[in-house]
Amino acid sequence: MIEKLSKICETIENIDLKNYNTFRFDCNAFAMIKPCNEKELIDAINLIKENNYKYFVIGNGSNIILPDYYNGIIVNLEKFNKYEIKDDVLNVESGCMLNKIATEISYKGYKGLEFASGIPGTIGGSVVGNAGAFNSSISEVLLNIKVYDGKSIKELFNKELKFEYRNSMLKNNKNIIVLSCKFKLSKSNVEDIKKIILENTKKRISSQDLTHPSNGSVFRNPSGYSAGKLIDDLGLKNYKIGGAYISPKHANFIVSDGTAKSSDVIKLINKVKREVKKHYNIDLVLEQEIIK
Ligand SMILES: Cc1cc2nc3c(=O)[nH]c(=O)nc-3n(C[C@H](O)[C@H](O)[C@H](O)COP(=O)(O)OP(=O)(O)OC[C@H]3O[C@@H](n4cnc5c(N)ncnc54)[C@H](O)[C@@H]3O)c2cc1C
Repeated sequence: MIEKLSKICETIENIDLKNYNTFRFDCNAFAMIKPCNEKELIDAINLIKENNYKYFVIGNGSNIILPDYYNGIIVNLEKFNKYEIKDDVLNVESGCMLNKIATEISYKGYKGLEFASGIPGTIGGSVVGNAGAFNSSISEVLLNIKVYDGKSIKELFNKELKFEYRNSMLKNNKNIIVLSCKFKLSKSNVEDIKKIILENTKKRISSQDLTHPSNGSVFRNPSGYSAGKLIDDLGLKNYKIGGAYISPKHANFIVSDGTAKSSDVIKLINKVKREVKKHYNIDLVLEQEIIK
């Protein structure tokens, strides 16, 4: 299988995933592929399916909880990394980093994605999870996306993606691979946009735990509540299981002391869910995704 995949695109056997997830878990997978164009991607996916291997697409690994060993093939689209702006429309490939693009285009005087300048995900992963911050989200500026759905390459329009708070229909449709996305921007004063980014960055630094490995916010905010406040009010800050603990700075962040395993994080997630249910009768919904 590895030999056949290697003939199609860059393939790494028994890949160490430590640098492919922001929790920095020590974990591995059977293989990772890095196609550099649509043909390579489609040929590789067809081969993987024909041979009944499991697979999933990874972005920057900043919203997934990887197992110690993933017995399948990880599809990495980091070589899908080009973008252009034409008539105020940004056309960007899915492997580009959202924070890099958001900052670069903002500094060129384009308004629309400045809220995203601190989000450490790829464009693909961020559209799948409708990433957002400071009361804005990616779905508000997205026009359409180009996808490979396992049969053909096609366009899907914003409405078809059924966006919700930190959710879209793509999250539950693992057959759909996002190839590129188009965003509607508008021209604005560069200095004004820079000011917004600077203020947002200051807010992030003051409120979030950015000094320890994490996946950012763990739970979606339940309607009318802040997940962080609910967890904080239960006195769970610093609560630790194995190498994972609730950040003392932001109670909706689970962070690693450098030794955490995914099982520690999952146990901690379940502990928090149980406590919040018991004390507030609220079912917290996970923002992050557990990969099996
Ligand atoms: C310090 C920190 C701060 C954060 N702040 C925020 C924040 O302010 N707002 C916010 O919304 N999130 C935040 N996050 C979470 C995370 O960065 C975002 O959810 C991000 O958009 C995830 O993108 P990713 O590329 O890392 O996706 P991954 O975690 O790699 O993947 C997420 C999901 O998308 C799928 N996927 C990825 N790429 C594709 C593709 N091309 N086609 C199909 N499926 C794909 C994966 O299979 C998986 O199901 C933060 C994380 C950290 C660590």
